[in-house]
Amino acid sequence: MTEIEDEQFYRDTESIAFPKLEDRQLAMLETLGARRIVRSGELIYRAGQRDLGLTVVLRGELEVFESRDGQEQILGTARPRGFIGDVAMLMGTAAVASARGKADESEILEVPADRFRQALAEMPAVSEPIVRAFIMRRQRLERDREFAGLRILAHAGSRDGQQLDDFLDKNHIPHRFVDFNSEYGQALSERLHLASRDVPALITASGLPLRRPSLREVARVAGLLRSLAGEDEMETTCDLAIVGAGPAGLAAAVYAASEGLHTVVLESYAPGGQAGSSSLIENFFGFPTGISGGELTYSAQLQAYRFGAKFSTPAQALSLACCNGEYRASLQIQGSNAILLARCVIIATGADYHRLEAADRETFEGSGVYYAATAREGKLCRASTVAVAGAGNSAGQAAMFLSENAEKVLLVVRGEGLTKSMSNYLSRRVEAKENIEILTHTEIRRMMGDKSLEAIELENTKTGEKRTVQVSAVFSMIGAKPKAVLGLRQLLGKEFITVTLDGLPGRVIYRRRPPPIKL
Ligand SMILES: Cc1cc2nc3c(=O)[nH]c(=O)nc-3n(C[C@H](O)[C@H](O)[C@H](O)COP(=O)(O)OP(=O)(O)OC[C@H]3O[C@@H](n4cnc5c(N)ncnc54)[C@H](O)[C@@H]3O)c2cc1C
Repeated sequence: MTEIEDEQFYRDTESIAFPKLEDRQLAMLETLGARRIVRSGELIYRAGQRDLGLTVVLRGELEVFESRDGQEQILGTARPRGFIGDVAMLMGTAAVASARGKADESEILEVPADRFRQALAEMPAVSEPIVRAFIMRRQRLERDREFAGLRILAHAGSRDGQQLDDFLDKNHIPHRFVDFNSEYGQALSERLHLASRDVPALITASGLPLRRPSLREVARVAGLLRSLAGEDEMETTCDLAIVGAGPAGLAAAVYAASEGLHTVVLESYAPGGQAGSSSLIENFFGFPTGISGGELTYSAQLQAYRFGAKFSTPAQALSLACCNGEYRASLQIQGSNAILLARCVIIATGADYHRLEAADRETFEGSGVYYAATAREGKLCRASTVAVAGAGNSAGQAAMFLSENAEKVLLVVRGEGLTKSMSNYLSRRVEAKENIEILTHTEIRRMMGDKSLEAIELENTKTGEKRTVQVSAVFSMIGAKPKAVLGLRQLLGKEFITVTLDGLPGRVIYRRRPPPIKL
């Protein structure tokens, strides 16, 4: 994007991002909140704070700013009838910037988080402009070249650094990747006393560095990790627990929460699942020109939030057991001492990717071997040669997407061609693309490189001929196997469960108490 395109974008989206609330909308919000006076410089919230409500300006002026490296960047101002905040207020995640009074004296209306959620679900006249504004503000922030958000300081191409980057990216948390060896990276590490052994480091909104943090620590800072129970509670309850936030889990969350069910969604990595890694989904109804999987599932996630569904990430469901009484299922969750009791559970754990059986593949997982082809991976291999393994639609989509920026794409196909496994429209596009070379009867035998992937050895299975080609990345699109079917089959096969049609839809009768099922 050029700066001129950015300016045009900011102009075009100004009115959506900063609407003025009308009298009737203000009157509705007034019933949910309280007025107060804010002086110039007085903090309303600080970056990193979570579960914030809505702040509306009635009189005066507020400003939103980011503090970084001892400097401040003003991100926006809100005037009467305007409001502050972005998508973080919808998701309950950490605020990405701070806000304070700007005018000598401002009068604001503060709606607490729980009441704001209620308004989002129950007052469409209020929620529609606010949600649209929040989403647009986040888009504008993501395009802002000055805004940093959380910063990952890491060696370019390092697996740990890439993993943090991928985790924040897939969870839609604004962040920057700073190469440890760049001029800025060196200055930053000196200022924060970070040595090479301390990276990857996460630099929080308040400027504090976390040395080699785990994903859970990162999730805690970003406000993604939600403790489902109070500190001394041993159990917590919900109407519906959804395990997995791929498209199936997200769709269920939208419908269940919109029906007023207390819905908890457990996700072990990032909402979006496999679909979140798709560069372009063209066969989902309602999107005649296609939509990226990330965009589709992010919108679904926001929709579920709007109706009050609660998410926790990363929160892997470890086991499921059945119990008698009002709550029929109990779930054990990674990192939580409390048990989640649910009236009903939907298991939407999707699939696990098949792994390529190439020597040294594991060495390059995350630093050259990828299972998704999104804008993030596209950037990593710009202007180089990459290989895509597979002959199905996901391989075809990945090859087409990557061919836009890569110098060349090698489509490595085990069989004799694309026609059996790829949709006709896609295989014709792939075959016609000049910088995609289709290598049939070919398999990847070995991966090579120093810190990150540099080359692969290919074997033609018909002729036995082997050759080495320089590639910066391998995209593995060779299918997946279902994750939870084994557990379910065990459960059904041993006749632990009978689903009855005795007038209680979906009622489950246990013939005997089953053991926990590993998910
Ligand atoms: C690159 C790519 C492109 C694709 N393109 C298309 C396309 O164009 N059109 C199309 O129709 N389909 C496409 N697909 C397939 C489509 O994405 C999948 O069919 C769809 O995502 C399946 O949805 P799901 O919700 O069932 O499972 P998944 O998407 O697999 O989601 C499952 C979720 O459950 C989570 N999870 C697993 N175990 C646990 C646990 N124990 N606790 C908590 N969470 C857990 C996982 O982290 C994951 O987020 C594509 C897939 C890929 C990979």
